[in-house]
Amino acid sequence: MRPDPSLADLPLRPELIGEEPYGAPQLAVDVQLNVNENPFAPSAEIAADMAATLTAAATAFNRYPDREAKRLRCALARYLGHGLDLDNVWAANGSNEVMTHILGAFAGPGRTLLAFTPTYSMYPEYARNTHTRYVTAPRHPDFTLDADLVLAAIAEHDADVVIITTPNNPTGTPTPLSVTEAVLQGTDAIVVIDEAYQEFSKHPENTALTLLPSYGNLIVSRTMSKAFALAGGRVGYLAAAPAIVDACRIVRLPYHLSSQTQLVAEVALRHADHLLGQVDQLRRTRDEMLVRLPQLGVEVIDSDANFCLFGPFADRHDVWQRLLDRGVLVRETGPQGWLRVSVGTPDETEAFYAALAEVLKEVR
Ligand code: PMP
Repeated sequence: MRPDPSLADLPLRPELIGEEPYGAPQLAVDVQLNVNENPFAPSAEIAADMAATLTAAATAFNRYPDREAKRLRCALARYLGHGLDLDNVWAANGSNEVMTHILGAFAGPGRTLLAFTPTYSMYPEYARNTHTRYVTAPRHPDFTLDADLVLAAIAEHDADVVIITTPNNPTGTPTPLSVTEAVLQGTDAIVVIDEAYQEFSKHPENTALTLLPSYGNLIVSRTMSKAFALAGGRVGYLAAAPAIVDACRIVRLPYHLSSQTQLVAEVALRHADHLLGQVDQLRRTRDEMLVRLPQLGVEVIDSDANFCLFGPFADRHDVWQRLLDRGVLVRETGPQGWLRVSVGTPDETEAFYAALAEVLKEVR
């Protein structure tokens, strides 16, 4: 082969031909409201605690990390409560990697992953990377789900793993616990409830964690990337029956979670009250957004997360670009014609409203 091959020269797996690396544009603009991060940075005190912890531990960085991440998993179990402990919790580099472990263990060649659209655009990528067939069923027109719809789709596709995202990304739609429970009563497929945004919900206590004692096929997926303000730390985790955690331990790469990652996450969990302290404010700003966007003359989908889907626009890319030209980055995702905006700080959110008002004058 020639020394500088192009992708087309390489013996790439057939299903990867023509694929592009996934990801929202990472652009250095003032107002970044495109990937549903918590806009409030850790305090100087928490940053100093992280740095001191890493400095103290660095003299042992010649050693591999704890392969089982036991201290971190205990801390995550304590944070979740509901009587969970180490054996119920698994952690990895973002819930992206947690999902890869779940699919590595329970999906793969000849097996099927089912999700309900519109939903998180990474799910088909997890499936592709684990050689899993990916199928979808549409949500109701108002983006809700009910147990009949979910169970019918499981039966139709003979699904092995089912993902219900609540609140859903990119619509913000919650799925009631009663629906989740009715689904669990009707299937032995692995049911993953992706609660990445659960802390932002109007009723965070209505979590599928409460169903764990009753259903061995239930996995609740969480992340430190959103409410916890630790997207840069890359820590996602799940809670489930111990046997499900054992299955994930079989497929994970050894030492998958670095010493730095484990330590930084442990510090963050010690400061949970502070890091989660802005969640109430983000929830209030989200609720205001549900009122302000219609006042500007656009529709918005009722949201239980830290983002809102708004539109519809004849040319959403044009609106996205005009917002970007004004220093405001939102996300082109979800149903055709709609855009998604994350809840920012009060200043960022005001800058978004001002930019959108100008753009709407231009395009309408
Ligand atoms: N699930 C959902 C529904 C998400 O929106 C995201 C992030 N956008 C994730 C999982 C993955 O988050 P992370 O890998 O940062 O934990």
